[in-house]
Amino acid sequence: MKHVSFTQLMTYIRCPEHYLFRYKLGMQRLPRKVLKHGFALHETFAYHFDQKKKDGKGLNAKEAKEFFVEVFRSALEDYALELEEARHLLSKEYLLKEKEADVGEMLELGMKGIDVYFKEMNPKIKPNLIEASFSIPLQKGIRLIGNIDLTDTKDVIHEMKTTRKSPNMQDIRNDAQLAIYQLGFQSLTKKLPKGISKDYIVMSKKDPKIVRFQVARPFLDRQAVLGTIHSILSAVQNNIFYCLHPAESWICSKEWCGYYGLHKELRTLGLQRFIAKYTKYKRR
Ligand code: SF4
Repeated sequence: MKHVSFTQLMTYIRCPEHYLFRYKLGMQRLPRKVLKHGFALHETFAYHFDQKKKDGKGLNAKEAKEFFVEVFRSALEDYALELEEARHLLSKEYLLKEKEADVGEMLELGMKGIDVYFKEMNPKIKPNLIEASFSIPLQKGIRLIGNIDLTDTKDVIHEMKTTRKSPNMQDIRNDAQLAIYQLGFQSLTKKLPKGISKDYIVMSKKDPKIVRFQVARPFLDRQAVLGTIHSILSAVQNNIFYCLHPAESWICSKEWCGYYGLHKELRTLGLQRFIAKYTKYKRR
């Protein structure tokens, strides 16, 4: 491993077993229409803010919606290919859930989300860094690489999320993703951010809205964050991959996790035999 990506680290933090399947054994990515929807929105706002940085205006809401529809359409073509590639891993419950995910409804929610974002958030943000790549030296020649989606000219990091339900108050000081973004910001600008804003678009047909959680002061404990990253790298090197979720958790289920069949097989075979079997499979 010459580098570890921000995405890989976040995967390990959320589910070490998922990391084993996806990154150590190279299993197929789990296709989800909803992820393509999030991707299309993300690309739309990235393009808009890139243009806005150049001309002070960027897209208007109508143009943003057209852009979103086009990116989502193309992402769904990728989704169809990914679904075929991963089909052998996926349970019929997972496939049914995907079939029921309604693209028309997602389009409608996306449009409403863009409208509310342009009305409420867009006027407040003067973009500075957009999709800025960072690369931070860690240990033994390994680098942490990733992108910061958006910062503004007041040095506030913005992390945009979409959700169907209004999120509860969060302590974003404990948010691993934002802690790593601060490291990235510091490596790019040689200063600390002045604030952090987690901006949720609540996707709803009747009541779309923006909910923000902000801290005015940075909370970076550089040594603590680097210590956590080193612990994860050491765990990966020592084959420590475990299921974080309590028994019968909704996440570890045939409907929600495309790796559920592997999860069961791992318990039957044990880690060493499982890794040996699927390392051979990966080499073929
Ligand atoms: S089945 Fe559970 S533990 Fe295994 S990869 Fe999926 S979410 Fe993670």
